[in-house]
Amino acid sequence: MFLQQRGKDLSDFQIQYIKGVGPQRARLLSRLGIKTVKDALYYLPYRYEDRSNIRKISDLRYGNVETVSGKVISAEVIRLQGRNLKIFELTVNDGSGLLKGKWFNQPFMKKNFKVGHEVLLCGTVKRNPYWGIGFEMDNPEYEIISNVVATRSRDDSLIHTNRVVPVYRVTSGLSVRQIRSIMFNLINTCIKDVYDPIPMEILRKNGLPGLSESLSQVHFPDTGVDIGFLNRGVSEFHRRLSFDELFMLELGLAVMKRGSILEKGIAFNPVPNLSGLKRLIEMLPFRLTRAQERVFSDILRDLKMPHPMNRLIQGDVGCGKTVIALMAMTVVAECGYQSALMAPTEILAEQHYINIHRMVEDLGLKICLLTGSKKDRPLSEIASGEIDIVVGTHALIQEGVIFKNLGLVVIDEQHRFGVMQRALLRKKAINPDVLVMTATPIPRTLALTLYGDLDYSVIDELPPDRRPVTTLLFNPGQKDYIYRLIREEVKKGRQVYVVYPIIEESEKTDLRSAIRGKNAFEKFFPEFKVGLLHGRMKAQEREEIMSFFKQGEIDILVSTTVIEVGVDVPNATLMLIIHAERFGLAQLHQLRGRVGRGSHRSYCMLVAYEPYGEEARKRLGIMARSNDGFRIAEEDLNIRGPGEFFGTRQSGMPDLRIANIVRDARLLDVARREAFSLIVGDPDLKGLPVLRKSLERFWEGKVELFKTG
Ligand code: ADP
Ligand code: MG
Repeated sequence: MFLQQRGKDLSDFQIQYIKGVGPQRARLLSRLGIKTVKDALYYLPYRYEDRSNIRKISDLRYGNVETVSGKVISAEVIRLQGRNLKIFELTVNDGSGLLKGKWFNQPFMKKNFKVGHEVLLCGTVKRNPYWGIGFEMDNPEYEIISNVVATRSRDDSLIHTNRVVPVYRVTSGLSVRQIRSIMFNLINTCIKDVYDPIPMEILRKNGLPGLSESLSQVHFPDTGVDIGFLNRGVSEFHRRLSFDELFMLELGLAVMKRGSILEKGIAFNPVPNLSGLKRLIEMLPFRLTRAQERVFSDILRDLKMPHPMNRLIQGDVGCGKTVIALMAMTVVAECGYQSALMAPTEILAEQHYINIHRMVEDLGLKICLLTGSKKDRPLSEIASGEIDIVVGTHALIQEGVIFKNLGLVVIDEQHRFGVMQRALLRKKAINPDVLVMTATPIPRTLALTLYGDLDYSVIDELPPDRRPVTTLLFNPGQKDYIYRLIREEVKKGRQVYVVYPIIEESEKTDLRSAIRGKNAFEKFFPEFKVGLLHGRMKAQEREEIMSFFKQGEIDILVSTTVIEVGVDVPNATLMLIIHAERFGLAQLHQLRGRVGRGSHRSYCMLVAYEPYGEEARKRLGIMARSNDGFRIAEEDLNIRGPGEFFGTRQSGMPDLRIANIVRDARLLDVARREAFSLIVGDPDLKGLPVLRKSLERFWEGKVELFKTG
């Protein structure tokens, strides 16, 4: 965030020039990521210790961490005979008894203390190791309250003891105590008139404290602030700082969304009776679910609007998103525009093509496949507008493919597309409607955050004929049983997937591989047809293999995770995953989603190889217990934490350093509401220049929110 103090930008103010820092310490601090004053202020304690209760020495309990206040009665360095050890011993008397503080090999400590000083000591209470009695502390935290020479000035508050004390992560050469002193000084000098960029009304309405107060309280909380809340990062002051991040996140999304609303797009004007669409629906071998109908009507409404559609369709694997896309593309074609269906992998693009091209052609429309590895590219037919629907990977918008009039872009399995890529798409001269489809089942609030610049519809219903997939866990010793199940399924006319984590054996791992697996299955099941599919094969080979599998000419398809998304063969009823312990939850759920797509009973068999860790055990357990993508995503979030869960996928998102979107879900809701309503009133934040600056800082290097000028 951007921090302003009387017009000065603290974000850029080098920490080196702060009193008590200097070049040497600045170098050490930079190892902790602290370069500027702002970095330091946002370098929060990772825990707090309550040293505010001063205990009488006579009441001390062994093993407890306690704080004691007393007068120094002796301070001396002791050399242990025969051992190369110097101990600085400080003896303190508080009227009720004596306490010894001991510092090992730090004889220089002696110069800090004089007999008669009033001091505070805080540490774990121990007995003397030789006599088994008395009270001692090893390396206690200390504070000199008064000394004979200097008198105490009024605002000379205590830093290290007699209060709730912040504990910071350290680096070698810089102790907690030193960092704490730097922070204390910083807060005292810089914080008072920091400018708060968040509008007062928003803070007041939501009971959030001011920025300077919050920054100073998270570092040096007043006594009375709940230490439990502090340690969990949910004190009202932590909440305020979390709010800032969430608000900036949402505000950025709101600005982007607003920007796209203001842009001019195509207002599709479908023929009144939607005859093409009607014919398509008649062709389908099933009836649309209510959820599908509802979501499609959202899309139809967007298509007619005069600004670009930006809608996210979320729905668990197998809920039938593809047909929705096809319906939208049909409407667009009928209005005389082209559509592009974009998939994250070539395999998936090929699948979509195979699945829909017949229906599209029966409607009298022209469709083509365009991927990186495909040689014959019908570029001139795309440019002339002869082709209505182009299916491909994102190569199709990046590699200078020219459309005559691209009206709709459908992005399938959005989790591989971030905010950045969408912004890129929008930056192109074209302003097509965009429909994003994802099976990543995340809780609604989180979805709103991650895809907050999009409108959002959910298909929350599976087709009625679906039966939950039965998931079974195995160890490699149960091979015979696994083979028996496979044989039974194939004999019934069903088909089987077998997934391996790697294509080929390598010296680096001892994982089993798809190529070896295929040979083994061929040997074991000479009566069945076994096929092999992986990412290193040529596109044409893959297409062939998949269409054989689809037509039932392959019984057992051995592959890698290339089939993870989108592949749709309803007759396949058994998914065998080898080395299931190596796969993430989302991936396992996706893979399992390849079966259970028809009305036959389906199985997912997970084979895990010991040894594997606790997390893998949890993942496998969840898979066996639940078929519900939302549950699984939540568990995944719990196991991995939000950082990792979203990290790699959402590369376009600014990092959250204080807020945690799971822990702070409620706050996120508030932030979102406030951000979006603020943008309605003042889309360019003209009235709030400092907030606007902060916002740009927050999104710097990710997305340019405001058109320059
Ligand atoms: P996903 O949402 O995972 O992309 P698909 O679009 O691939 O799902 O659909 C999964 C399967 O369900 C396909 O075989 C599709 O034809 C079928 N399907 C889609 N909608 C329905 C429906 N309403 N009733 C029955 N089957 C459906
Ligand atoms: Mg799909």
